[in-house]
Amino acid sequence: MTQQLTPQEHAGADIKKVGFISLGCPKALVDSERILTQLRAEGYQVADSYEDADTVIVNTCGFITPAVEESLSAIGEALDATGRVIVTGCLGERPETIRARHPKVAAITGSEAVDDVMAAVHELLPRDENPFTALIPGLGDTAQVKLTPRHYAYLKIAEGCNHRCAFCIIPKLRGLQVSRDAGSVLYEAFRLVAGGTRELMVISQDTSAYGVDIRHRDSEFQERQVAAHLTDLARELGELGVWVRMHYVYPYPHVDRVVELMRDGKILPYLDVPLQHASPRILKLMRRPGAGKQLDTIRRWREICPDLTIRSTFIVGFPGETETEFQELLDFLEAAQLDRVGAFTYSDVPEADANALDGAVPEDVKQERLARFMEVAQRISTERLARKVGRTVQVIIDEYNDDEDDTVPGTRLIGRTAGDAPGIDGQVYLYAADFAGKVKIGDRVQAIIEDSDEYDLFGEVVALDPWQTRVPQLGHFSHH
Ligand code: SF4
Repeated sequence: MTQQLTPQEHAGADIKKVGFISLGCPKALVDSERILTQLRAEGYQVADSYEDADTVIVNTCGFITPAVEESLSAIGEALDATGRVIVTGCLGERPETIRARHPKVAAITGSEAVDDVMAAVHELLPRDENPFTALIPGLGDTAQVKLTPRHYAYLKIAEGCNHRCAFCIIPKLRGLQVSRDAGSVLYEAFRLVAGGTRELMVISQDTSAYGVDIRHRDSEFQERQVAAHLTDLARELGELGVWVRMHYVYPYPHVDRVVELMRDGKILPYLDVPLQHASPRILKLMRRPGAGKQLDTIRRWREICPDLTIRSTFIVGFPGETETEFQELLDFLEAAQLDRVGAFTYSDVPEADANALDGAVPEDVKQERLARFMEVAQRISTERLARKVGRTVQVIIDEYNDDEDDTVPGTRLIGRTAGDAPGIDGQVYLYAADFAGKVKIGDRVQAIIEDSDEYDLFGEVVALDPWQTRVPQLGHFSHH
């Protein structure tokens, strides 16, 4: 749909402003960052309110019913405010759902569609051809707009998924796995580190399967060939001298090699392994990848790398789950001693195969099981964190904590250990008496842990621990 533009708009006298709403998971956030980077690089300005925006892009999520509703109502609000809306992201893969509610949206694209989104933007808001305003100073093509704080960033290595888990519609929405070449991932990581990022979180739908679709082909990074394989990628990322954290890793055999890199201090000793259940029958019903012998695998990983923090998520009340099978899950939790655990009660997802399964678990039983599950998980987390008391650990600083009245500015800090991913795990509350004013956000320190509770740690900074990045730093004269 083409809009009528005034002659003044055509002349490019004004800088065009685009509003942006980003919904959904970390993977969607990465897409949003790409689009924002491109908008800025082309001279568009990002508006911070609807009133200011000439058009609005909504990056949607379509994973579960509440997310679809949230996306549809965000589109509605943006339409009411500006009349010109471009929809992208997961829900964009189902244009009929969007058009049924909002026939007036200007364009709809799926996820990973930066070029299509930009084409829609160009149509609605023709590019500024005036050479004096078209280039925003300081933003060359190496600049990256990030929605996460500058000191950490998500690194998406593949899109889509080759599995068919019964409760999940991601493969239907996003298609089969498409991996990026290792060279392209590493170049992006390099650029991020050069721009100040100190922690990289590797994400995809199935990180262990990275590169399978492109037969682990080699690609060039800094005049050498790197295979699109998780082990090779992890090893190379480990060379950048920043924290590298692995998410959505399924327990395939080659993950042992990645855990060895953790033992050797190359990447963080942290694995986010979504296991979802422990009963073999339920896992089979769920059609989960890499589900056999979970306990043996976890024990082997801990033998290789005793410091390993394992995070996982589970679903309770999957159709047909009996009390005995739920108990099996609790027993597994006790035996596996997972450090960090999240759990959801099962709920139907539109178009998911699991909806057709018999034996729906009543809501009150699901809630009761969730409560029992969380009780065990919390106890284990508390016990495992208590073991850190008295130890000196590395902490990355996320923010200042100047709320309390008696605070001397810069003496209270909040950060995370290697065992805590931002947003989902715990935090470390630190006192930095001797280092007031010397610690910046994104810095790394050594801290002695003095106390712990269910999820968080408390301690004191004992030393600065400057990053030794092996990447030239952009934008300032670095002492690294
Ligand atoms: S592994 Fe299963 S849950 Fe994860 S994206 Fe693929 S199908 Fe969905």
